Amino acid sequence: MKTEAVIKQTEDALLQVYSRFPVAFDHGEGMYLYDLDGKEYLDFGSGIGVMALGYGNKKYNSALKAQVDKLIHVSNLFYHVPLANAAQKLIKASGMDRVFFTNSGAEAVEGALKLAKKYANNKNKKNYNIIAMEDSFHGRTTGAVAVTGHEEYRTPFAPLFDNVGFAKFNDLSTVSALIDKNTAAVILEPVQGEGGIFPATAEFLEGVRKLCDENDALLIFDEIQCGMGRTGYMFAHQAYGVKPDILLSAKALGCGVPVGAFLCNEKAATMTRGDHGTTYGCNPLVCTAVDTVLDIFDQEKIVEGAKKNGEYLWKKLDEVKAKYACVCDHRGMGLMQGLQFDGVSAIDVVKAALAGGLITIAAANNTVRFLPPLIASKEDIDEMVVRLSKAIESVVAK
Ligand SMILES: *Cc1c(COP(=O)(O)O)cnc(C)c1O
Repeated sequence: MKTEAVIKQTEDALLQVYSRFPVAFDHGEGMYLYDLDGKEYLDFGSGIGVMALGYGNKKYNSALKAQVDKLIHVSNLFYHVPLANAAQKLIKASGMDRVFFTNSGAEAVEGALKLAKKYANNKNKKNYNIIAMEDSFHGRTTGAVAVTGHEEYRTPFAPLFDNVGFAKFNDLSTVSALIDKNTAAVILEPVQGEGGIFPATAEFLEGVRKLCDENDALLIFDEIQCGMGRTGYMFAHQAYGVKPDILLSAKALGCGVPVGAFLCNEKAATMTRGDHGTTYGCNPLVCTAVDTVLDIFDQEKIVEGAKKNGEYLWKKLDEVKAKYACVCDHRGMGLMQGLQFDGVSAIDVVKAALAGGLITIAAANNTVRFLPPLIASKEDIDEMVVRLSKAIESVVAK
């Protein structure tokens, strides 16, 4: 099939909620994707932070193929070995006590909100409230949208759960102005992703932890984007030494298969038998993926690599910022970085880069986001900078 035909056939049938780029991908290998015409693209988006191991990892692919032939699904009425292994390893990697596997990030957020709501009810918090952050992103289901700090995502779907207060990220005084004894939970991303790559300050995370403890509110860290090695730490909060009561994961957790998780400590483990469920969640196929991903992370020192090459990426993007006056800010941690533009539009840079064979992602605050597979090498980063520089120059010249 030709690209144009693929686009038409797709657009004729799909609900039109996306503006897709006019590219149809065929296959991937390592750090590269290939479209239907065989054109190669260096991938610094990894399917929005999902493909941490890049494309075509032999160990991952063969584990999944073997599991497909063995058993894909049994429901949550039964036990299986991949679940036992995935659960044990994720508990160990996160330092949390309990895990529930979901099919997506938004569902992990929903699970966290249910834990928090039941916590508030158990504690007789009257007309309880939840505190979230401006510029945050937590997903597109109605609960997740209710705590997402972008009005345009919420208003078309009003009324949502409306007892949500939005504080300013990294401004502790705005959290303390909203929090009280009736607060069920505070939810935040230790590094905001969709909002434009804003890492929390240590002072802010420590302060929010303290405010939650003083008000008996749960602290939820949404690490769906910034977790799983992305920042050079297995989970971003480990860089700060501040622990949440509930931790959310998805995206790179399964490196391509749809799986997410909410994890909690014993205090936040408020849901009991009958309170929650899912049909697909934690089936043998996705659990094999999680189990294998965690093994590969361990054996191939993926997190250490992300830390080391994240420092190199930092140096190279700083050089880009110094070279081009239209780059006004550079933020991030590990292999999760962003360049904010001034005077040129980030989306124009993303489009020009794509035309030149480089995938990046636009984010809020006129930011171009870099989320490469965690296997990105120094050579890949050098090549990215060559293609990015050409893209910036072409946009500036317009
Ligand atoms: C992507 C994302 C979500 C939503 O995950 P889905 O799998 O798309 O539902 C939630 N929170 C954060 C921080 C994300 O980046």
